[in-house]
Amino acid sequence: IDGRDLYLTYAIYRPRWMLLHKNISFGKKLGEGAFGEVYIAKYQFREGTKVKMAVKTMHLKHSRADKLEFLKEARVMYSLQHNNIVRVFGVAALALPLIIAMELCTGGCLLSYLRKFKDTIPIERKTRFAYEAAKGLAYLEKVGFIHRDIAARNCMMTAQLTVKVGDFGMAEALPEMTVSELKKVPIKWLAPETMQRRIYSHKTDIWSFGITMWEIYANGDPPYQGQTNMQVRAKVVVQGYRLSVPGGTPDPVGELMHKCWLVDPAARPTFAYVEEHLAKHAEKPIKV
Ligand code: ADP
Repeated sequence: IDGRDLYLTYAIYRPRWMLLHKNISFGKKLGEGAFGEVYIAKYQFREGTKVKMAVKTMHLKHSRADKLEFLKEARVMYSLQHNNIVRVFGVAALALPLIIAMELCTGGCLLSYLRKFKDTIPIERKTRFAYEAAKGLAYLEKVGFIHRDIAARNCMMTAQLTVKVGDFGMAEALPEMTVSELKKVPIKWLAPETMQRRIYSHKTDIWSFGITMWEIYANGDPPYQGQTNMQVRAKVVVQGYRLSVPGGTPDPVGELMHKCWLVDPAARPTFAYVEEHLAKHAEKPIKV
């Protein structure tokens, strides 16, 4: 990979989201991603300020076109700013590995939290988790950004247990081949039209969000447990099969889930609608 031409492109004017490897000081490893590792790190901006962040390394074979795509996507992600969206500070792409720098979420991944604390989590708190994710996603809907991979595993938490939606956009910016080779398609989170015709829209995002709500009330259980992707695809698409609402889910929330899974995409609710309806049943955010 020749980073030189990219470097020359940005040598005159380097935008704020374009970070330099030499300004990153790595700390302890936070976790393992599909394409690399995630570390706690500090970034020193040109004016001297140091910001603590989480950095994800991407060990991929990127062509120049892939890299440009990655940069384009990073610029969009940088522009997305909301309290319930994992903030992207920028990318370091002038050397390898490619690095995405994002907001540090010390509470870890929502899915792990659900699996760890299970039924000790009060229902109103679970509803708050769903509500906060819906708020972030309603923002993405408002600005016209399609997430494409909404799932509890892609939601993070702050130290105060505020939910933030993360891992957006990157699916698009990854090299085509690598996506199909390395990343298994999350069939159980996909709307029928995505499974069949690879269509992505706000209405396929809301389907995936319905599955995410299901995960929250099911304490992080895998959806359609014991069934293969092929079986689920056949049952959902052909027979109109749907998950049953987990025990303890407030009735209005169960109804919301099923609205997210309507066959007709146009009949499914918007994130704005879901946000508004979840608000009525959610606990207040934890104040620090
Ligand atoms: P991928 O989606 O590429 O497989 P993840 O985003 O799941 O990788 O990251 C792997 C792990 O790194 C997560 O399970 C989590 O523990 C940690 N991690 C990821 N992003 C953050 C973040 N913003 N703040 C804190 N930890 C993070």
